[in-house]
Amino acid sequence: METKQLYLYDSYRREFEAKIEQTNGNVVALDQTLFHPLTGGVSFDTGFIEDDGAKRAVLRVEINRETKEITHIVDAPGGLRAGDKVRGSITWDRRYRLMRLHTTAHLIAAIMYRFHDARITGGQVDPDQAKMDFNLPRTDREVFEDAVAKANLEVQKKTKLKIYFLNRDEALKIPGVVKLAERMPPDVKDLRIVEIPGIDLQADGGPHVNNTEEIGLISLLKIENKGKTQRRLYFTVN
Ligand SMILES: [Zn+2]
Repeated sequence: METKQLYLYDSYRREFEAKIEQTNGNVVALDQTLFHPLTGGVSFDTGFIEDDGAKRAVLRVEINRETKEITHIVDAPGGLRAGDKVRGSITWDRRYRLMRLHTTAHLIAAIMYRFHDARITGGQVDPDQAKMDFNLPRTDREVFEDAVAKANLEVQKKTKLKIYFLNRDEALKIPGVVKLAERMPPDVKDLRIVEIPGIDLQADGGPHVNNTEEIGLISLLKIENKGKTQRRLYFTVN
């Protein structure tokens, strides 16, 4: 059964209430959740689910692409029963780093495209660092140093993000709204649009900061060559 994705509506909310739809060993499905699953190139949230009788640590969160059911893998089976009301809380330090790193990925992808004609081909945001793959024939580090420097300038501009829903047909008319062809947005009526005014606009279900200034200092960690025209950038934020 499809889980209502509360994290789409407020990246800053940390606690929620829900009803257990079903449990299977240490796997728990709720009717709604704030836990962001491993999807869209962004890692999952961790935290806790509890009712009056049991408190379980959430170790991993996944989403079924077809059914849109989100499952929480908890630290031990038992104690939580279908039909029970529970309280959930996400680990904020981890989530906030995902938000800062993921918003940085938007900046860098937009800058790489605009200034270096490099298209993003994939990526993954984890709490400690993020990696991004680009189609780029050049092999020198300078391109990425320049992109990170430009992204840091964007942070200093303190740009406020806009996040809103648009009718799917209208949204798909916007040039470049889908950056990764293999990540076409789900078949839903309204698409969630994430806009960094003056920089980037795309259909996106991930968690973001409200203002680029929250990102802090972006640092380039390393560059890897992945074949003739594939470059992988690793970066973090402090
Ligand atoms: Zn995003």
